Amino acid sequence: MKSISSPPGVSLTRQPNAGGYFGEFGGQFVPEMLRPALEELEQVFLSLKDQPQFQRQLEQELQNFAGRPTPLHFAQNLTRHYGAARIFLKREDLLHTGAHKINNTIGQILLARAMGKRRIIAETGAGQHGVATATVAARFGLKCRIYMGAEDMRRQFPNVQRMRMLGAEVISVSGGTQTLKDATNEALRDWLTHVEHTHYIIGSVVGPHPFPMIVRHFQKIIGEEVREQARSRLGKFPDYLVACVGGGSNAIGLFHPFLSEEGVRLIGVEAAGKGLQSGQHAATLTRGRPGIFHGMRTYLLQDRHGQVQLPHSVSAGLDYPGVGPEHSFLKQRRRVAYHCVTDREALEAAFRLARSEGIIPALESAHALAFLEYLMPQTHNNQVVIVNLSGRGDKDLDTYIEYDPTFRRTDRP
Ligand SMILES: *Cc1c(COP(=O)(O)O)cnc(C)c1O
Repeated sequence: MKSISSPPGVSLTRQPNAGGYFGEFGGQFVPEMLRPALEELEQVFLSLKDQPQFQRQLEQELQNFAGRPTPLHFAQNLTRHYGAARIFLKREDLLHTGAHKINNTIGQILLARAMGKRRIIAETGAGQHGVATATVAARFGLKCRIYMGAEDMRRQFPNVQRMRMLGAEVISVSGGTQTLKDATNEALRDWLTHVEHTHYIIGSVVGPHPFPMIVRHFQKIIGEEVREQARSRLGKFPDYLVACVGGGSNAIGLFHPFLSEEGVRLIGVEAAGKGLQSGQHAATLTRGRPGIFHGMRTYLLQDRHGQVQLPHSVSAGLDYPGVGPEHSFLKQRRRVAYHCVTDREALEAAFRLARSEGIIPALESAHALAFLEYLMPQTHNNQVVIVNLSGRGDKDLDTYIEYDPTFRRTDRP
């Protein structure tokens, strides 16, 4: 691994600035009509986040509804398999609804209530953010509408049924490619017309300012717990932190409390899909260029003419052409090293974890696990590696079964 440290005199943790920029990334590229809503959201967030009553309520919900703190599991068999550093897993997969996304939706629905909003909207690709949003809307009695591409609805039908079971209205978006990008446009249009009583819950550290800052705030509990758990269990900070990067929220959540600890190496893992050469991947930071998308300036997969390219990943949660602006900044400052692994490498890592540790990971998280193949040979047995297990793999079982030839030989009804 290259040594990674930030240039002296640059504060990594004080970002974003007042305009919502992380260095040259981020900002607020939205229609003028949306600015008052974003301003209100920022004001309410800044005034509430340190208020003891708000903090207490958030903590209670995270503890009693979502299931925090999540364990830090020593992966003994996986450690033995590699014969190098000790490997620990941060078990976000054990949270209610099966992934870290609930941390953010709980935080944002409390903000929505504080702003007196009666209605929640969100867009969803794979349906995971839609389910986490519908869940908190039900919990707090707010009306909820989820926008989803028609093609995504077909591919992720069980999540559509979950959202409906939770009382949410799921709107099928049939324009364009019928996927996340089009659903996001519809959600923004809805927000523009109903902004006075509606809050739009964005699901990752993406979109216009202040969303990347707010989502980071609600996800950094992951890294804060890891700091505490590492201190009491290991008596030291970890040497490496590894997380997958789609929009980047589980990674920022883990990394942020460690940005100033120069001895802790941070590694973000993107989806190389069918391989970087194939053109079918979602390796935004590895292969993209800065551009403007979803209200922010950030790295972006685009063709020679600046047209946004359709990403590919076997994992629906990593299938996004952009990335949170803070990741673009951390890449530029070289505080985080970004790598990528292919669909196949992720699938193999998922089977390795399932069969060595008895844990079926989400395909997204399996990307972080796959990077251990490259990282572990460079580590020593007195070091510690922590991988963020962002979600559980029940939702990916069909993909796993299709991939593994040993399943096909077994009898299926
Ligand atoms: C949505 C999702 C991701 C990707 O989103 P980030 O914002 O990059 O964290 C990763 N893992 C799981 C389990 C997810 O559901």
